Amino acid sequence: MAFEGLTERLQNAVKKLRGKGKISESDLRDTMREIRLALLEADVNFDVVKDFVKVVRERAIGANVLEGLNPAQQIVKIVNEELTRMMGEEDAPLLKSPKIPTIIMMVGLQGAGKTTTVGKLANKLKTDANARPLMIAADVYRPAAIDQLQQVGNQIDVPVFQMGTDVDPVEIVKQGLAQAETNHNDYVFIDTAGRLQIDEQLMDELARIKALANPTEILLVVDAMTGQNAVATAEGFDNQLDVTGVVLTKLDGDTRGGAALSIRAVTGKPIKFVGEGEKMTDMDIFHPDRMASRILG
Ligand code: GDP
Repeated sequence: MAFEGLTERLQNAVKKLRGKGKISESDLRDTMREIRLALLEADVNFDVVKDFVKVVRERAIGANVLEGLNPAQQIVKIVNEELTRMMGEEDAPLLKSPKIPTIIMMVGLQGAGKTTTVGKLANKLKTDANARPLMIAADVYRPAAIDQLQQVGNQIDVPVFQMGTDVDPVEIVKQGLAQAETNHNDYVFIDTAGRLQIDEQLMDELARIKALANPTEILLVVDAMTGQNAVATAEGFDNQLDVTGVVLTKLDGDTRGGAALSIRAVTGKPIKFVGEGEKMTDMDIFHPDRMASRILG
């Protein structure tokens, strides 16, 4: 289960304070040390942890936790609020273009869950908002990628625009957008190529697609299981493309939590959705407050 180790350690850190009417400075110091270790062990970014611990400690002292009643409860409340803040505080809904279509460009490393997420989002818009999305297959390097998107399209009954693998992806996007205009699609998803790691050629191609399509959203799909690598990936993509948001996938796995807790703080970009399984319906809007409560258990 996701966050299992972190939840247990955070609970243990605070448990020692339970039942105490008053705590000493050294109790607080011990608790903060354990919270710090719990977060580091969950693979949360070092600087993010440092800032977090400092703020929680200052707030605890400011709130007179040492003098007050039920210090454990007060610290849990502060930790909950600061975890929420670390993940962005407010929900970050999908942006909508004032004029159709809203173009959503999906980027990410190979295997992160890009194609699956394109399907999940298109399916969600179709189901919740009666939208008429079109999905463009712009990954020409892996023939299987086009088949996979086509399969997803069949499954959720959403059309796929593709031109095979011998055409420049920028041209594919151009023609796909023309088709969307003809057919009055209100959302267009561009499923771009991924690589095992960030490279210049890929970034150049993505930048050209961005320049042509002028998307409302550039959503970066990252695999939560990869912890700090996911954070580094997010920084890399964001530096080159200025992404508008992040989709964190595979939160149904036993991820330690580092990516979920660090990405917003490190990149400044909100997590918008989380993937929690392989099925088309296994996706949720990301709510920082609910995630914080889930982490605290
Ligand atoms: P892409 O290369 O980025 O397009 O990645 P895919 O969409 O092909 O996904 C790679 C693998 O991860 C597939 O087997 C997906 O079924 C799986 N996958 C994607 N999202 C999730 C998720 O949220 N949870 C789980 N458990 N698997 C996922």
